Amino acid sequence: MKTDQRNTAWESLTFDNRFTRSLPGDPETENSTRQVYEACFSRVRPMNFKRPQLVAYSKEVVQQLGLTESLARSQQFASVFGGGDLLPGMDPFAMCYGGHQFGNWAGQLGDGRAINLGEVVDVNGKHQTLQLKGSGPTPYSRFADGLAVLRSSVREFLCSEAMHHLGVPTTRALSLVLTGESVTRDMFYDGNPKDEPGAIVCRVAPSFVRLGNFQLFASRGDITTLKRLTDFTIRNDFPHLGEPSPDVYPEFFAEVCQRTAELMVHWMRVGFVHGVMNTDNLSVLGLTIDYGPYGWLEDYDPNWTPNTTDAQGRRYRYGHQPQVAQWNLAQFAGALLPLVDNNVEALQSGLKLYVESFEDAWHSMMVAKLGLESFRGEDDQELFGDLLDVLVLAETDMTLFYRSLAELPCESVDETASADEQWNRWIETMGQAYYAADKITDETKSKSLEWWSRYRNRLQLGGVSDQQRQQRMNRVNPLYVLRNYLAQLAIDRSEQGDHQGVWELLDVLRNPYEQQQGREAFAEKRPEWARHRAGCSMLSCSS
Ligand code: AMP
Ligand code: MG
Repeated sequence: MKTDQRNTAWESLTFDNRFTRSLPGDPETENSTRQVYEACFSRVRPMNFKRPQLVAYSKEVVQQLGLTESLARSQQFASVFGGGDLLPGMDPFAMCYGGHQFGNWAGQLGDGRAINLGEVVDVNGKHQTLQLKGSGPTPYSRFADGLAVLRSSVREFLCSEAMHHLGVPTTRALSLVLTGESVTRDMFYDGNPKDEPGAIVCRVAPSFVRLGNFQLFASRGDITTLKRLTDFTIRNDFPHLGEPSPDVYPEFFAEVCQRTAELMVHWMRVGFVHGVMNTDNLSVLGLTIDYGPYGWLEDYDPNWTPNTTDAQGRRYRYGHQPQVAQWNLAQFAGALLPLVDNNVEALQSGLKLYVESFEDAWHSMMVAKLGLESFRGEDDQELFGDLLDVLVLAETDMTLFYRSLAELPCESVDETASADEQWNRWIETMGQAYYAADKITDETKSKSLEWWSRYRNRLQLGGVSDQQRQQRMNRVNPLYVLRNYLAQLAIDRSEQGDHQGVWELLDVLRNPYEQQQGREAFAEKRPEWARHRAGCSMLSCSS
């Protein structure tokens, strides 16, 4: 590629590397595994893979960065986002952080297989960090290889973009590139290693700083670096809070709490289960970050965890996510304590705000999911709780349940009809949401009908028409989510060299709330074959 050709195509990518410019770096430049002290990052170059090949890109992120789709299809794009070709202005580095894993302090972790290329200013004037995941080892790789396989990279690429289109705060994905080299993985840690295609996702976010970044310095008593990172984060990502000071730190903490509460409500709304909510996997910006063994609820089960490593303790089960986030934030508060003269109360109000914000957002979310006009207090809370109790009685697809409920006629229902007649009306519309509609017990039937009757009364009280209700509900209850088996089908094809499945899924997930003609198959509930298949119902951390 001639230099002048490259300059014009890439010129909108202006690098302004605030992180490496403003924060202390590791003076050691050799790329070997080590403990790194008093530094927020280590400079490290991505590996130079011989045959990088584009699998897919997100046209929205391409545009956001001021790039063009024709550039995205060029070989040089694959080389740059395959890590082999550094652009002028890039200053690649891996971040140093720690974290609590499954509730235990794990010490230094860091970007073991992520390399930040640098920060660019996007078309909206906002800074975005470009980060390659799977581009080779860093000083933080510990015992692992720094690489990623295609299956987990497809999952991260698709889910990042799907979450964005669902309106859930998330890191984004610019591109998915095959490295052309294979990576060995023992998927279920059972002595069956296999060679798999290696791949790299380029992730994009205003910041990849995690709660664990702050924790590591605090755990080492390195208050100087802790303060520098905190001040940097406030100045760049929370500038509306004003100049960092002991008065501003609690406000900063409170805002992280509030954003995290809102994020948890989003996850609960769409049925997303992160799977590894360690403190190093929680973003200080309240973004969904690090898509690993995540999963989507199919049958509504608050105890479900997609992560096989979590199968025993179920710490990261769907219904427990809000509490885990709160626990993580309490650890974060502990890390910030030295900055507020160990004034515990100053930070406690942030944790209180977490609980309040979560409750408020939860109520608004359930109001919207059910198409109500506003939250009316205790009775509504009971209506929500009872619905969730009904949902676990029979195996019920969460996504299809809410979409069907929007279609269920609730005005002009004959209130004198017999229970059998009422059930027939219910099942006519709701039937598609059940995994075994013919096996529903009498108890479930009567509880469902009882709930339906209360719901109708509630709608009447609020003067909500069926039409209004449907419109409201379909704006917050997606029809298309990244069902685990759909991702797996796209992966199966991609592993055979056919990437069309990834493109198609990406396109379906662009409009998750709108019914798409000819794409009914993507809205169907999980087929029986997928119930126990690896990748569809259980995911390992191996990626
Ligand atoms: P996770 O909880 O999966 O986000 O990862 C925990 C830690 O392990 C992070 O520090 C990762 O960077 C690191 N890690 C995960 N997989 C690899 C790998 N293949 N090579 C190097 N580091 C890894
Ligand atoms: Mg992680």
